[in-house]
Amino acid sequence: MLTLNTPVESLRGVGPKIRAALKRLNLRTAGDLLLNEPFRYEDFSTILPIARLQAGTVATIAGKIELIGSRRSFRRRMVITEAALRDDTGYLKLVWFNQPYLGKILKAGDRIMVSGKADWQYGSFQMASPSYERIQAEQTHVGRIVPIYGATEGITPKFLRTLVRQVLPLANEIPDPLSPAICKAEKLPVLANAIRALHFPPSSDALASAQRRRIFDEFLAIQINGLRSRSLLHSQTAPTIRFHEQKTKRFVNRLPFRLTNGQRTAAWAILEDLGGPHPMNRLVQGDVGSGKTVVAVMAMLNAAWSGLQSAFMAPTEILAEQHYATVTALAGSGVPVALLTGSRALRSDQPSTTRLGLKKALAKGEIAIAIGTHALIESDVRFQTLGLTIVDEQHRFGVGQRQTLSTGKSARGRSVPHYLSLTATPIPRTVALALYSGLDISTVAELPKDRKLVITKLIPESERSTIYSFAKKQIATGHQAFILTALIDESDMLGIKAATQMHKHLQAEVFPDLRIGLLHGRMTAKAKETVMRKFSGRSIDVLVTTSVVEVGIDIPNATVMIVENAERFGLAQLHQFRGRVGRSDAQSYCFLLTGKTGAGPDNARLLALTKLTDGFAVAEADFKLRGPGQLRGGQQSGQADLAMASLGNLRLIERAREVAKILLAANPTLEQFPTLLQNARNPIHWE
Ligand code: ADP
Ligand code: MG
Repeated sequence: MLTLNTPVESLRGVGPKIRAALKRLNLRTAGDLLLNEPFRYEDFSTILPIARLQAGTVATIAGKIELIGSRRSFRRRMVITEAALRDDTGYLKLVWFNQPYLGKILKAGDRIMVSGKADWQYGSFQMASPSYERIQAEQTHVGRIVPIYGATEGITPKFLRTLVRQVLPLANEIPDPLSPAICKAEKLPVLANAIRALHFPPSSDALASAQRRRIFDEFLAIQINGLRSRSLLHSQTAPTIRFHEQKTKRFVNRLPFRLTNGQRTAAWAILEDLGGPHPMNRLVQGDVGSGKTVVAVMAMLNAAWSGLQSAFMAPTEILAEQHYATVTALAGSGVPVALLTGSRALRSDQPSTTRLGLKKALAKGEIAIAIGTHALIESDVRFQTLGLTIVDEQHRFGVGQRQTLSTGKSARGRSVPHYLSLTATPIPRTVALALYSGLDISTVAELPKDRKLVITKLIPESERSTIYSFAKKQIATGHQAFILTALIDESDMLGIKAATQMHKHLQAEVFPDLRIGLLHGRMTAKAKETVMRKFSGRSIDVLVTTSVVEVGIDIPNATVMIVENAERFGLAQLHQFRGRVGRSDAQSYCFLLTGKTGAGPDNARLLALTKLTDGFAVAEADFKLRGPGQLRGGQQSGQADLAMASLGNLRLIERAREVAKILLAANPTLEQFPTLLQNARNPIHWE
């Protein structure tokens, strides 16, 4: 008897080869097949009479085979199968190439349906290589909305369809986490109907409501995860970080600027969390240049004053080094700060140290604030009393790394350190609600008051020299410029070739009198640091760089950002690049150079960026312009789609949260609902 656990090899037509192919798709059982969704559909549902065919359009025809026969073409040594299909209105010629078995499967007199593109040839309509299927009570391959599954070598979408058809009756066996009453209240189909309609939609309306149900279930799973991780946090204890009010005030008063309201609010929320008995799990999001670093420093200082250590992780060495410089300057002498990256080990309270020495100092609790890259989470790095972990630009870390970080145990008993992440990739509110349900979020909403908006312009290739002279003038007034290059070709993996060539060209031919620097990902940490130090010390005028500058780099004196081949970058990424300038009270400029002229989709995208200044708006525009179709295919694609879905579905998300509470209250493990568990993914990250 067929059950959800029946292995695929017990299904009709599955031999060892197909089994192996299915395994590559992670499909091992009948249940897997049932839960494997089509990745797109082909709408073959409109059946036309032959007389109404139009050349060049896709259509489905139902008719009777009058004649069918195969022959071998002389020149191309190919088997050609030809058939004449007739309906009440006329004849249609069908041609298939190299499918000799067709002549055996199909016979004159058979009633079939074919779907394909019709061409007008030699005075009659013809379809080349159409999909075909015998007419039956319910069609699987033509004459309907047809599911297309991700195929792999050794298995065709068509064969997958027939397999799914075989297991479809099992849809009734999958337990529905939503009761019929809830389904009715939420106007959602029950699970079995939704599954059937996802595979073989009876209509586009039925498909739409099945997809709504699927999205609801994904939101539901995320909400369940979120509620669970919150309750897990509440069952754990964290080291208490007291709010040192006087010291904090003194620190704030010594800053060379006034904190913005957003910074104050975020810092306040964090400090309140840190004083509590349970681990904090908070995300601070704020546009590039909104001043998240100083907020993080306030949290780390309060930890230090409470006798606890902090770890501050950055995704690149350059950024870690920059943070080390910032934090040592801000922390004052009583708070020893260390830097640990793949290539460097420094501590602020001693002129020199070794890696080993530094690790010992961390383990002995001599260092209050440790700043670094992944080097900080290597297995031999121990803290004595880790109270707080902060991850900067957290979207740049892989999911695995984030988990190691957030679960890092502190040495003090069983307490779990507080966790704070910072991101400049803004998350629209609905997306945050939908995808980050286990997380508290603070938003540093505004930029410091003195900031002027970065003037952003799309520049055609023909105006390149104008831009260069503009940059020259800015530099003459004491400012600096970035020139960001995209990779030249596939072989130029990290864009190093492009940057190197550009650097040479600019120095020799464009700016012979200026000091041009070069920065890319393959340089040694030391070389990178030297360049960055020169740039921030103003002994480099123009920095040619790859996208390594994307994250975090802070050079307030730079006012010009020129992006080469801007069309190769996503909007959110371009917004990050732009955020490298406009970090002081001087007017800054971002020029998007594009080889392409005219009104392509790329231009529309880039044009959108010139008009949008707020990172939230950029993030939304990025998603909308990319469109759902292009989001499919990668590991993260399901998440991206979901983020997209959440944009217009606030109500659905809120309902999912309510239903999640009801379900968890009735049944904390939810083990019996495999569909929910399958949907329960890792926390999702929005990029
Ligand atoms: P991001 O949020 O992008 O990480 P940073 O923390 O690097 O931003 O801050 C950007 C720049 O703004 C830094 O040079 C920082 O010293 C400065 N800054 C931070 N807060 C303020 C403020 N309230 N007023 C003026 N400048 C500020
Ligand atoms: Mg930053």
